[in-house]
Amino acid sequence: MKLHTIALGCQMSEADAEEMSAPLAARGFSRADTPDEADVILISTCTVRQHAEDRAISLIGSLRPWKAANPNRVLIVSGCAAERAGDSIRQKFPYVDLIVGAKSVERFPEIVRETLDARFDALKEQPESFAPEILPPTASPVSAYLTIMRGCNYSCSYCIVPSVRGRELYRPVEDILGEARTKTAAGAKEIMLLGQTVNSYESENAEGKVGFGDLLRLLDKTPGLERLRFMSPHPYYVDESMLSAMAKCRSVCEHLHLPLQSASERVLKLMRRNYTPGAYLEKARAARAAVPGIVISTDIIVGFPTETEEDFQETLDFLKDVRPAWAYCFKYSPRQGTQSASWPDDVSREVKEDRLKRLNQLMDELTSEALKAHVGKTAEVLCEEPGFGRTRGGFNAKWPGTARPGSLASLAVTGATKRTLLGELA
Ligand code: SAH
Ligand code: SF4
Repeated sequence: MKLHTIALGCQMSEADAEEMSAPLAARGFSRADTPDEADVILISTCTVRQHAEDRAISLIGSLRPWKAANPNRVLIVSGCAAERAGDSIRQKFPYVDLIVGAKSVERFPEIVRETLDARFDALKEQPESFAPEILPPTASPVSAYLTIMRGCNYSCSYCIVPSVRGRELYRPVEDILGEARTKTAAGAKEIMLLGQTVNSYESENAEGKVGFGDLLRLLDKTPGLERLRFMSPHPYYVDESMLSAMAKCRSVCEHLHLPLQSASERVLKLMRRNYTPGAYLEKARAARAAVPGIVISTDIIVGFPTETEEDFQETLDFLKDVRPAWAYCFKYSPRQGTQSASWPDDVSREVKEDRLKRLNQLMDELTSEALKAHVGKTAEVLCEEPGFGRTRGGFNAKWPGTARPGSLASLAVTGATKRTLLGELA
């Protein structure tokens, strides 16, 4: 029995796909690299922008012949688009066997058990191997995801996430520490903590309350862990405890991906982001003061309803001031059911495209400046594939020759392409 997984969208979607493949691996499924070899295909979908949902829909459509070739095959559609548009997916693609919304990831083992019991000859699946501790079929990557919280308690006016993922739920500290130990024992050198507002994490252990900074301190002691990263922190929760943990913990990397979205105070208010540009700037400065050399990156939305040229210019000027090393830039996409979707989408497609182009031009310059600052210096790289790895700051790096994946090396940086450092291993 073979399983093929396809994750569309963010790291959370990838992590969900990995988590959902575990109960199948425990039933004896092994990994199929292509759909053709697979008995089961699991798609983890995204709906954060219309374009992402359209991709999911066209992928499901393209699997019609795969299913028709052998109706015993099982097609599972999961994740955020499944949560938002499950009914219409069911109607449009009746050959989908199972639709599992993003809120049901934790119940997936039970849900899938029923479908598989009905479909496959249980004997073929080695049911005796059903045990939760069995690892997913993927080879343990050098860099592993670890979900520490699900959902989001914010209500940014443009964002579909709270409605498809629900309110915040924090995983218990001991579960997180245990999963980190399992992942490093299986070979992971780097762990990326995941959560929609990852630094709003709060829980408790025998000693009392555990906030995000405390969690970083506890995870830093994980045997074999070389690097600890996290995504995405919310500016509101960047506090002294988090920054001092970043400064003091050996494994925590000097990188902060801090989504800004806009630097117009008026637009931020309409977005309901809960910070002003001034407050964001203070957090960025505090991070730079606490963690020398920290790399800051961000997310920006252009063409939000009512965004004027002046608003957009404020964002550009702000970015020139803060100088993030890179940014994920998006055209505003109205999502049905969100607050802003009821407002006129009044920035034309042409204007959105023009702003996105100008924003990307600025970000290319800032990225190039950040990369060039490394030339002539050395940087620690974690080798993820032969000849490829990343610096602690999060820059991609390439070098000739090989190094064992999972090894740390010192890279003498000799140059850079548009997005990647080039060099020789020292
Ligand atoms: N929780 C994270 C972001 C999750 S969504 C945070 O608060 O920062 C990832 C990114 O997608 C967002 O940062 C935003 O830039 C973008 N995004 C979300 N909804 C969008 C929409 N409706 N249109 C365009 N971009 C959007
Ligand atoms: Fe969406 Fe805002 Fe929550 Fe991020 S913080 S997931 S943008 S609602």
